Amino acid sequence: MKTIVLKADNKNNKAVTDKAAEIIKQGGLVAFPTETVYGLGGNGLEPEAAKKIYAAKGRPSDNPLILHISELSQLRPLVREIPPSAEKLISHFWPGPLTLIFKKADIVPFETTGGLDTVAVRFPENSIAREFISACGVPIAAPSANSSGRPSPTRASHVEYDLNGKIDMIIDGGHCEFGLESTIVDISSDKPCLLRPGSITVEMLKDVLGEIAIDKAVLTKLENGESPKAPGMKYTHYSPSARVIIVRGDSEKVIAKINELISKTDKGLKTGVIASEETKDRYIADETLVIGSIKKPEEIAANLFKMLRKCDHHNIDTVFAEGLPENELGLAIMNRLKKAAGYEIYDV
Ligand code: AMP
Ligand code: MG
Repeated sequence: MKTIVLKADNKNNKAVTDKAAEIIKQGGLVAFPTETVYGLGGNGLEPEAAKKIYAAKGRPSDNPLILHISELSQLRPLVREIPPSAEKLISHFWPGPLTLIFKKADIVPFETTGGLDTVAVRFPENSIAREFISACGVPIAAPSANSSGRPSPTRASHVEYDLNGKIDMIIDGGHCEFGLESTIVDISSDKPCLLRPGSITVEMLKDVLGEIAIDKAVLTKLENGESPKAPGMKYTHYSPSARVIIVRGDSEKVIAKINELISKTDKGLKTGVIASEETKDRYIADETLVIGSIKKPEEIAANLFKMLRKCDHHNIDTVFAEGLPENELGLAIMNRLKKAAGYEIYDV
């Protein structure tokens, strides 16, 4: 299959999204930009489209997809009820980087929900995403547009690298503003529960809801036999080929520990550090990748997946990453980083 890549540069957005919608209507797959990461979209009400998405990504079919809408009126037909907690979250955070889990209506195929009787819905803010979804006239099922297990794509080139020849089209809308996948909150049972941290932080959710439970999988590695409420959180994720090791604690101690670990690394292996603007000159690694300023967590979030992909491009074998405090945006950044590291962490 030939994958068409078209740039949406504001002047021609309509022509590009119309072309993409045509492909969706014919049952094809289109990768599109959102404010979180690029999504791999198909018709959300067609079981066959869901199957194609799983096949293109190499994604296990029990890992459900998120339905993306472009108008609030598209939500009601997809869900059995909209509880008061959902109303509150919607009025504060939609459109935006928040996915909500509802009890699903019958029109949503089980192929899209990985066999679950709940459905994930998101109303993205990105204007190209909304024009595209709106032109399709149906909710768009979309997981992140990476090969399963790889870091999520935040540039069209990342999608092309992973999925070229496997999907019909990529809409190139530049880089993604937030760069981490959406926050997921389950409001399908009595008590709202955070299933995946993201740019809408726990602190922001608490301001609106008063209280929110946090699924154990958000904070810690689950033991064998335990399963997270978001099925996707059980898979290894975001991994570059390099071994990723996190060192966290007081900044000076982190620098000393990383340099000690580098000096003990087999000389045949290429080492890297994912460092901040403030610490970038302090390391003895073969390659230092600068992720952003410690003072700007949004910059670090937006660059994280790009940095993990860069490790591969630089053929780094072992990469050390500085840990962050796990509050506000740091919770979401560390959640992705810990998974990339397979929970290999040094506390100093
Ligand atoms: P991705 O868009 O690739 O980040 O994947 C979607 C994420 O949403 C995965 O982690 C899924 O497990 C999660 N998800 C989608 N639908 C549901 C659902 N009905 N219940 C819980 N988690 C869901
Ligand atoms: Mg994903």
